Amino acid sequence: MFEKILIANRGEIALRVQRACRELGIKTVAVHSEADRDAKYVKLADESVCIGPAPSAKSYLNIPAVISAAEVTDAQAIHPGYGFLSENADFAERVEQSGFIFIGPRAETIRLMGDKVSAKDAMKKAGVPCVPGSDGALTDDPAETIKTAKRIGYPVIIKAAGGGGGRGMRVVHTEAALLNAVNMTKAEAQSAFGNPMVYMEKFLENPRHIEIQILADQHGNAVYLGDRDCSMQRRHQKIIEEAPSPLLPARLRDKIGERCAEACRKIGYRGAGTFEFLYENGEFYFIEMNTRLQVEHTVTEMITGIDLVQQQIFVAAGEKLPFRQRDIVLNGHAIECRINAEDPYTFVPSPGFINRFHMPGGPGVRMDTHVYGGYTVPPHYDSMIGKLITHGATREQAIARMRVALSEMYVEGIKTNTPLHADLMADLAFQQGGTSIHYLEQKLGISSK
Ligand code: ADP
Repeated sequence: MFEKILIANRGEIALRVQRACRELGIKTVAVHSEADRDAKYVKLADESVCIGPAPSAKSYLNIPAVISAAEVTDAQAIHPGYGFLSENADFAERVEQSGFIFIGPRAETIRLMGDKVSAKDAMKKAGVPCVPGSDGALTDDPAETIKTAKRIGYPVIIKAAGGGGGRGMRVVHTEAALLNAVNMTKAEAQSAFGNPMVYMEKFLENPRHIEIQILADQHGNAVYLGDRDCSMQRRHQKIIEEAPSPLLPARLRDKIGERCAEACRKIGYRGAGTFEFLYENGEFYFIEMNTRLQVEHTVTEMITGIDLVQQQIFVAAGEKLPFRQRDIVLNGHAIECRINAEDPYTFVPSPGFINRFHMPGGPGVRMDTHVYGGYTVPPHYDSMIGKLITHGATREQAIARMRVALSEMYVEGIKTNTPLHADLMADLAFQQGGTSIHYLEQKLGISSK
């Protein structure tokens, strides 16, 4: 087992990974920007290294700085968290070339899945059902693009092959708007992701976002750890996640889960990963694979009792998975609310000084956050400051616990989206379960369609 792990991230996930390491008796190295010098996990780490100024391009995305921090501290492995360098194949490659272990899949797997066109192609070959769409990337031939859209049927969605974080997508309802939309998405994709390649999919009108968590070792074993429903979204970004998906027949979950585990065996996947699907009228359609730990991994942990970060570490160290599929038992229901430093209804970010901070507690309540009273939320990074997770024997109990937990949460000094979450816990359609990915925007009277 490793003696020392470097955590190449910040915020709540840096603390989450650190906790997993400390429980296992593994020493941790925190790397941080100048803006995160006073973070709690930096103080709790065995060692810390400042890797640059506040802007992430100069610190958290600075590959040479992260690797030299591992060198000077003699860390053996690097955990990338989520976001930042976690799905950067060049980073994974350079980590391993420098003699460290990357806690994640092999660089070639990250590369294959990071390009959504090649990912879809690989999944089709592995027998995973995909959203109907163009055969690979769109060519420069406008007549062909028009033909493809006609074949798929409007509305269609144009998506960047290198896209992520809900960006680089455009919905098209009519042929008249098609070519212009394709060109605009290409230009945006080039400037945001350095890759102008785009592809086309049928735009599903009423789907839910359901994903399958998988875990695979380096000895050919792969299991799925149930599903998560992440349909409550705004601008294609998740704000509430739960496990298991409400109203999804266990038979369908097991069928798609087994397909995903099989696909992992076929491509030689290693570590934790997520297959994301849109689910409509009883059918699953693959949209992408995330080759890393996800923000919402917590709800899976709550219902399986498995520490996903520790499993990532064991797999990276070359160990065999300690369980088989039949050992995975789903227990009760878990919900996660992403707590963002932002206005709950205009979504304008609200960084700044938090003078008072009270966390909720009680049975079945978990809060993953690096924030405390006296902490300043820097303006340079993502606005998520924590995750509130509740677990109950039933979905009703998990919702009731979330309602109480949200009412106990007290943050003074900045705005958070807690009131929006409280509204959603009281929302009848949410309580019934099974709302589509468009529900939140319809409720708020905004539309990104
Ligand atoms: P990203 O990598 O940016 O997260 P995804 O491909 O995972 O992009 O899609 C993110 C979200 O965008 C989905 O959860 C869904 O809300 C919406 N979306 C993507 N593809 C489609 C589609 N074909 N039809 C309808 N909505 C879609």
